[in-house]
Amino acid sequence: MREALMAQQIPLTVVDRWNRPLRALRLSVTDRCNLRCQYCMPEEDYTWLPRQTLLTFEEMARLTDVFTQLGVDKVRITGGEPLLRKDLPILIRLLRQNPRIQDIALTTNGVLLADQAADLYRAGLHRVTVSLDTLRPDRFKALTKREMLDRVLEGIRAVGAAGFTGLKIDTVVIRGFNDDELVDLVEYGKQVSGEVRFIEYMDVGGATEWAPEKVLSRTAMLQILSEQYGSIEPIVENSSAPAQRFRLPDGTIFGIIASTTTPFCATCDRSRLTADGMWYLCLYARQGIDLREPLRAGVETETLQSLILAGWNNRRDRGAEERKALEHRSTRGQFIAIEQLREDPHLEMHARGG
Ligand code: SAM
Ligand code: SF4
Ligand code: SF4
Repeated sequence: MREALMAQQIPLTVVDRWNRPLRALRLSVTDRCNLRCQYCMPEEDYTWLPRQTLLTFEEMARLTDVFTQLGVDKVRITGGEPLLRKDLPILIRLLRQNPRIQDIALTTNGVLLADQAADLYRAGLHRVTVSLDTLRPDRFKALTKREMLDRVLEGIRAVGAAGFTGLKIDTVVIRGFNDDELVDLVEYGKQVSGEVRFIEYMDVGGATEWAPEKVLSRTAMLQILSEQYGSIEPIVENSSAPAQRFRLPDGTIFGIIASTTTPFCATCDRSRLTADGMWYLCLYARQGIDLREPLRAGVETETLQSLILAGWNNRRDRGAEERKALEHRSTRGQFIAIEQLREDPHLEMHARGG
């Protein structure tokens, strides 16, 4: 492979302006969702990506192939709600044919997981992350506008039953909403052999109800958890993963993703491909690079490589750090107004993939 890459004059490690490698690709397979989490999709209706623009699985696999020729070796399937995309195991099988991919993970809200977990496992999916913000049915309904907590919990049980290990449970913590459930969620994680990761509420596109006072910081989370469990030990790891991990006295491990108060842009190797083939180099980027158009025009692989290479080489994005810097001027508020989101749905978290 080394020789092949040299022949195409591709550097062995593709890095951006801050020397960050191109490693992890988040592949959004749909912008649709069956929940309406208030921190992500507070509206009932949205401007959806036109159906004819959505990439087929073959197109997704082809683009992913090109990304892997440039260094990507981790793929996370996301959305919207990825399990709404019909026949997802077909995509997993296509991706598994690519030997450069070391890890294929899925982030899902879990609603449709009970029906699909076994097929996804058989198709070769490596890992599953389920988002779960509350264990209380009334709160689940208030947050998501749907009565589906039982289905999510059933979906989580199906993960282990299907044969998966390494389950993760992601919880967005909102001050005054679910900050009294941190301990319950850690205990639930133990029951289902899942590693819980608490995520600070982020002011991403679509989070039109975000406000600074709704953020519960990592420090505050650790304070709450240590009151229950005693001393919490940070785990020292050399990793670009967004979560910092901690160990409780009984050995239980959990993570905190402190994107809002302690951004980790300096080591960020992630980029995102929307379901219609727009490539975004940062969760907060306003502009993306259109890969669908050249792909459908039938360009050579080298042309796609050059587009991606040039895009990554020029990348300077440090979106979360820039958002944080606004705090000093007390100007941190809503990132993108609803009118703008309606004009360009790509600015939405649910289109870009979390
Ligand atoms: N629908 C799937 C799900 O919820 O797992 C996948 C897509 S969702 C956009 C991916 C992740 O983004 C979820 O874990 C969700 O909680 C997280 N997310 C969405 N909006 C967020 C926000 N404003 N702050 C922090 N995390 C957010
Ligand atoms: Fe919730 Fe995920 Fe749907 Fe957003 S995309 S509304 S986080 S389930
Ligand atoms: Fe990466 Fe952008 Fe998130 Fe920073 S804000 S960690 S650069 S995706």
